[in-house]
Amino acid sequence: MRGVIAGIDIGGTNTDFGLVADGEVIWQERLPTKRYPDVRVLMNTIQQIIQLQLDQQDLKLLGVGIGAPNANFHTGCMESPPNLPWKGLINLKEMVHQRFGVPVVVNNDANASALGELKYGAGKNMKDFIVITLGTGIGAGIIVNGQLLIGHDGMAGEVGHTLAIPEGRLCNCGRKGCFERYASATGLKETITELLARPGATSSLQHIDPANLTSKQVFEAAQQGDEIALKAFDYTAAIIGRKMAEIAAYFSPEAIFFLGGLANAGDLLLKPAKDYMEEFVLYLYKDKIPLLVSALPDNKASILGAAAAVEEFTH
Ligand SMILES: [Zn+2]
Repeated sequence: MRGVIAGIDIGGTNTDFGLVADGEVIWQERLPTKRYPDVRVLMNTIQQIIQLQLDQQDLKLLGVGIGAPNANFHTGCMESPPNLPWKGLINLKEMVHQRFGVPVVVNNDANASALGELKYGAGKNMKDFIVITLGTGIGAGIIVNGQLLIGHDGMAGEVGHTLAIPEGRLCNCGRKGCFERYASATGLKETITELLARPGATSSLQHIDPANLTSKQVFEAAQQGDEIALKAFDYTAAIIGRKMAEIAAYFSPEAIFFLGGLANAGDLLLKPAKDYMEEFVLYLYKDKIPLLVSALPDNKASILGAAAAVEEFTH
C-alpha cells in the first residue's frame, strides 16, 4: 500500500486539500471556505472526501499537514483568523487528529509555503531564503540556515503587519499603515480606488464595480497600458521594494520568493520592486538578492507545503 500525506490549506476564499506522495500532488480538491460557518463541518467533509480517495486508490495515510492563517505551530491552534468566518481559538491539531488518527502538523499558511519551497521547490538547494505570500493578506515564511523560523511563540514572520506607511490605511489588526494594507491584492484594489477618485482620472477600470474588481483585471489593464493600473503597480512595487530592502538587512537571504494572487503579475510587479529595492537597500546587499516567483505550481504550492511540514517535523 502506497503511503501518502494529506495537505490542507485553509484560505480566506477556498480550502484546498490533496494527497502528496514522493513530492507530488497525486490528487486534489477544493471547497469554498465561507460556505462552512462551522469549521467542524468543514473538517468532517474533508475527512470524508479524503477517506473515499484513500479507499479507492488503496493508499495509506501517514500524516496530515495543515496551513492556515494565524495558525500556531506550537499549540496547533488557529486564533481568530482575519478574513475567515470562525472566531475564537480553534484547536485544528486536535480536531484533525480526532478525525484521521494520524500525526498532524499545523503551521501558518506562509510558513507551510516556505517549507514546500524548501522541500520541493526552488529553495531545495538554498539554506537562507524568504517566501512572501501576496494574497488577501500578506504572510512570510522565513528559512534560516535550512530551517523554518518559528519563533518563541510560534508566530514569527508576520511581515504583513510591519509598518509600510506611518499613520497610513487602517488595518484589520487595529493599527495603521501595515504592509499588507498596500501590497496585498486587497491593498492594490484600494490603491486603484484612491487613484480613480482623483480629479480627471480616466481608466478602463472605472467601468468595474470596485467591490468586484480583481487583481487579475488590474494586471490585464496594466498590460494594455492603462495609466491608472500602471501607476498602481508602480506604487505597490515601491512599497514592496522598500520592505524587501529592510528584510535583506534582517535576514541576508539568498533569494526572496513570491507566491499568491499578486505574484502572478510576475515581472510587471517584481521587476520594478527589485529596482526600488536596489535603490533603498544597504550597499552590503546590493545586486545580491533576486526577487523571484515561486517555482511551485500555484494551485499545488499550499498543499505541498502543508504536507512538507509533516515530513519536516514528524521524522
Ligand atoms: Zn496590520
